[in-house]
Amino acid sequence: MRRWFGGVHAWLTPWRILVAFGVLAGVVGVFGLQALQRDVHTRALNSAVFSARLISSLVVGRNVTAGILHSGVLDTRHRVDMDADVAELANRHQLAGLEVWSIRDGHLIYADRQHPRGETTLPSRELIRARQGAFATVSTDGRTGSTFDVFLPFDADGDHVLDAVVEVLLPNDPINSAITRSTRLINAGAVLAALFGMFLLWRVRLRLRRQEHTARHDPLTGLGNPVLLAEHATEVLKPDRTCAVLLFDLDGFREINDTLGRRAGDDLLVIVAGRLQAAVRSCDTVVRMAGDEFAVLLSDLDTGLDAQQTAQRLRQVLREPATVGLLTVQTEASVGIAVSPQHGADIDTLLRCADGAMYHAKTGGLGITMYDPASDTRDERQLAVLAELRQAITAGELRLHYQPKCRPDGTIAHLEALVRWQHPDRGLLSPYAFMPLAERTALIKPLTAWVITEATRQCAVWRADGQPLGVAVNISPRNLVDPDLPAVVLDAIAAARIPANVVELEITETAITTDPPRAHATLHRLHALGIRVSIDDFGVGYTSLSQLGTLPVDTLKIDQSFVADLLTNPVHETVVRNVIQLAHDLKLSTVAEGVESHDIWTRLNEFGCDEIQGYILTPPLPPDQLTPWLADWRANSHQHPQHSERRTGELITRRP
Ligand code: C2E
Ligand code: MG
Ligand code: MG
Repeated sequence: MRRWFGGVHAWLTPWRILVAFGVLAGVVGVFGLQALQRDVHTRALNSAVFSARLISSLVVGRNVTAGILHSGVLDTRHRVDMDADVAELANRHQLAGLEVWSIRDGHLIYADRQHPRGETTLPSRELIRARQGAFATVSTDGRTGSTFDVFLPFDADGDHVLDAVVEVLLPNDPINSAITRSTRLINAGAVLAALFGMFLLWRVRLRLRRQEHTARHDPLTGLGNPVLLAEHATEVLKPDRTCAVLLFDLDGFREINDTLGRRAGDDLLVIVAGRLQAAVRSCDTVVRMAGDEFAVLLSDLDTGLDAQQTAQRLRQVLREPATVGLLTVQTEASVGIAVSPQHGADIDTLLRCADGAMYHAKTGGLGITMYDPASDTRDERQLAVLAELRQAITAGELRLHYQPKCRPDGTIAHLEALVRWQHPDRGLLSPYAFMPLAERTALIKPLTAWVITEATRQCAVWRADGQPLGVAVNISPRNLVDPDLPAVVLDAIAAARIPANVVELEITETAITTDPPRAHATLHRLHALGIRVSIDDFGVGYTSLSQLGTLPVDTLKIDQSFVADLLTNPVHETVVRNVIQLAHDLKLSTVAEGVESHDIWTRLNEFGCDEIQGYILTPPLPPDQLTPWLADWRANSHQHPQHSERRTGELITRRP
């Protein structure tokens, strides 16, 4: 039953409902028309009866008395008078004939001469009917032509006893033509109404089609939208068919929009849409998901490899130079692939998988990535951790530990804020236990916002306490492509009432290479506001040296992997020495991280390194431990810092 209703529901599209109403209106209209025609006919007959009564009372009532009727014979004088009256009315085309019949036996008492009637007796059927009241019929004969025959019971002396039946023959033509005229008018009206109805239906259909099209298409590119994709997916995705979703995200599109204008951005999107559409098979579906994101649904593939090859081909097609305004641009895209049925049976799952893969492609600068269930944050355990972490941010379970950076003269001007999670069951968790997961999801946004707010607040506390410290915060790649980041940093600085230049953002090389134009734009905005920027873990990523000159960067933090074995690995020693030299040539300062021994610190000082950070000073400490540590450090600052004792703190955490 439910299935039946489901079927009916699916069948009932707006257009079909409208047509059904149209048909119903048509049927009602036809019946209405017939009723109208019957009404016209009845009115015509009634008016004929009325005219006949008038004629009867004028001609018969004047000449035929009750006595004549009882005798059954009309004398010559009255006959002549009646003939004269009839002739006159006939001349005026108001009468076609007149006959008077006896009420008793129906024999003919009078018949006008112009239209003498063959019959001498009124058929009993008409006689019986006339006795009951007036009635009219339409008849045609050679004598009178087409006439209305009106039979009227006639009471000559007003005693309410019928004396005769008067048959008045009225010429049919005027009445008939009146009926015909009315009928024609009604028919013409009906045809016009039907035509108008059809016109309305056609217009409505056009509008419905347009609405249907708009609901399923992107107005800018003319491609389908996610609604259309979902519809095609339900037809195409089957357990025994290999299909794939390719999710394209243009690299640096925002910058084209920002620098060349929205119009140019729109032009580029139209070009991209056209190229994708032209490069796929007719059975594939290309849609614009939103902004600079496009999805391609490939149906009936042999293997998932076909999807990868198609992605490569499409990426190549997009890379062809495109003219936007007066400029020629080359479009790069990051592509995520999810294959059905392996990765998911429905379009929502496939899109989620493709989105995750696309993000990996983008952050890793890989171009194309196939969805990998092993690194899926939708894994149940990871989902649970994510839910817990989301809760932890609002429940105040996150902590910041701070690690100082020390100059060769022993002064400490900067602290790096490093996040920990005070888990209710698992104890204090290192960032390695939860940051990689958070960084793959949108959760990194509120997490980083919390870190920035808390670090600037704590910095303000130290500064109010007379310690002119700056604070550094680590920023994930995903944060750097977030347009809200500058506002978050500015709000935090404003709330803490500290100068912008005491805040430093530590970004990794991956963050810059993920979406270089976008990262550059965000960094330029922040840097213009006075915020300092340093490249964290420098040396292990892929920052091109040429970028260093153009990036708004103040500091290079040499990765601890080069620092740790500086004294035993000549290659690393060369790298560190040359990075410090290069940084100084570019007017950048340097920090060596992960310094664990005095000898390394001494060597770094020889190389001219501006600051060091590491367990040789202290591991990261919570504020309530760091504050006395700082006081202690300052009190002993007359000693050479390199002779300071190594402090104990939290356990050494090595990068996994
Ligand atoms: P990082 O920013 O490079 O931080 C340096 C890491 O090295 C810290 O680990 C620190 O405790 C550790 N470290 C410092 N000195 C030494 C040393 O002498 N020897 C050794 N072996 N390790 C040392 P931690 O705190 O576990 O942080 C690990 C990474 O987690 C950080 O690397 C950073 O990339 C990330 N992280 C920490 N907090 C945040 C945060 O608030 N936001 C973001 N996005 N990432 C964070
Ligand atoms: Mg750092
Ligand atoms: Mg680092």
